[in-house]
Amino acid sequence: MIAGRMMDRPLLIIDILKHAADAHPTIEIVSRTVEGPIHRYGYADAFKRTAQLAHALKGLGIEEGDRVATIAWNTYRHFELYYGVSGIGAVCHTINPRLFEDQLEYIVNHADDRVIFIDSNLVPLVEKMAGRFPGLTAYIVMAARENMPETSLPNVLCYEELLDGQPETYDWPELDERAASAMCYTSGTTGNPKGSLYSHRSTVLHALGLLAPGVLPYGTGTAVLPVVPMFHVQAWGQPYVAPIAGTKLVMPGPKLDGESIYELIESEGVTLTLGVPTIWMGLLTHLRETGKRFSTLKHLVSGGAAIPLSLIKGYEEEYGINVAQGWGMTETSPVCAAGADGPEMDKLEGDARHELKLRERRFFGVELRLVDEDGNLLPHDGETQGELQCRGPWIVDGYYNDEAATAAAMTDDGWFRTGDVATITDAGLLQITDRTKDLIKSGGEWISSIDLENEAMSHPDVAEAAAIAMPHPRWQERPMLIVVPHEGKNPTTDDIREHLKTRIVSWWMPDDFAFVDELPHTATGKVSKLRLRERFKDHVLPTI
Ligand code: AMP
Repeated sequence: MIAGRMMDRPLLIIDILKHAADAHPTIEIVSRTVEGPIHRYGYADAFKRTAQLAHALKGLGIEEGDRVATIAWNTYRHFELYYGVSGIGAVCHTINPRLFEDQLEYIVNHADDRVIFIDSNLVPLVEKMAGRFPGLTAYIVMAARENMPETSLPNVLCYEELLDGQPETYDWPELDERAASAMCYTSGTTGNPKGSLYSHRSTVLHALGLLAPGVLPYGTGTAVLPVVPMFHVQAWGQPYVAPIAGTKLVMPGPKLDGESIYELIESEGVTLTLGVPTIWMGLLTHLRETGKRFSTLKHLVSGGAAIPLSLIKGYEEEYGINVAQGWGMTETSPVCAAGADGPEMDKLEGDARHELKLRERRFFGVELRLVDEDGNLLPHDGETQGELQCRGPWIVDGYYNDEAATAAAMTDDGWFRTGDVATITDAGLLQITDRTKDLIKSGGEWISSIDLENEAMSHPDVAEAAAIAMPHPRWQERPMLIVVPHEGKNPTTDDIREHLKTRIVSWWMPDDFAFVDELPHTATGKVSKLRLRERFKDHVLPTI
């Protein structure tokens, strides 16, 4: 080998913010604070406060490799923690406040977190569980002194007091780019949550990957609003991409309802926003009810769960918004594929164009393949469904301190089993059709619960729908559809059946229907099929 004559400089997270402070010093980070008022400052100010935070962390005894937990919404203080914690070589462990108590206890102790940073409105949640976290040495409330809540927590410190008077520069260490920088546990619909441990290198490469042209437009003059929380896979990389690109970063705080999101988009000139389908349903309902329109928003990215076609059509046809879907997982940093723009799309119009938007193109750096149950490779013909596996520099090679889960997730040749079922076209466009554990397999053939739900949700009276597999003596499994009607609507079984008749093949027709007021959701807002199956476990299909 002839070695290249290029400098061996490490890819480090803190260098992203350093770059933004130099190249985009006045581009703003705007946050709706937990207390309510809007806070704004530039990347240069954020860099100074991050240095102050780094001094404070060292003062708390945090060393390289220590885990520092956060349980917080999207605000500038959480942003400072992303950079300050990883900058000194520690690991920023973001925790989802919607987890069940037992899961919270498990992950704080499994990660062996040293200290925890908490938003003031989440203090009661942690307070309730004090005593169950023996390894925590301090609880830091992310507030100024005047907003500190009364609390019975031990060793409570005030974030602003910790930063006060600290130097505004820090001698950032030159870390190994492969060092761990952050961690995030999957919400764990089955078994214990599993920890994904990101590195400086994986994080920087993921952010650079997202900057590939054609999918997510960034750059000066643009403003991004990650509605996706910073505890859900690092807000899909947005706190890293925006400072590289010189994009204004708008943080929504804890208010994620349609009205609050709309207000922030309008008042801050947001051009791009990202979040899960439930959020976009809420925003669309708000727009329709109030007759409001967007003046700056151009692009909306949906991920974390399959987007219903009706939602794409609503935003595109009624509001002229370009909708792109992204696919990813906690284990994949998360984004691996997003948007379907390209020559295929250019040829299409109307419904055909919207339907293509249910697919996503993979990013450079990520390899995808489909396999059958015996591990044989399947064709990328747009029709054959198989388990999706992936490989790349921002995909886990195992779980943090969990050998059994690692062994189950990795193939012998080093690919990650996603547990998702997908098709891929010959032009490389991916579409998730199901999850292996959610499959409905009728007479040896797969039924896509996602397609079934999408079709059901295109009925005007249906707000949400979930398909689950029910045991059947003849067909092994048959689908059952659980429907949440829109308020004030009372669709009947016959209505839904009639609606589906022309939209799905006959053997996909659910054997039974149930109407409920609400579906159970996981901590990240997805329908919990596990809890739904539990709820209907004694139900007997009429076709048996
Ligand atoms: P999480 O790690 O909680 O973000 O969950 C990742 C899982 O969400 C994936 O394995 C998929 O099952 C699901 N998911 C994410 N993006 C999509 C998408 N675009 N379409 C369908 N399912 C998705």
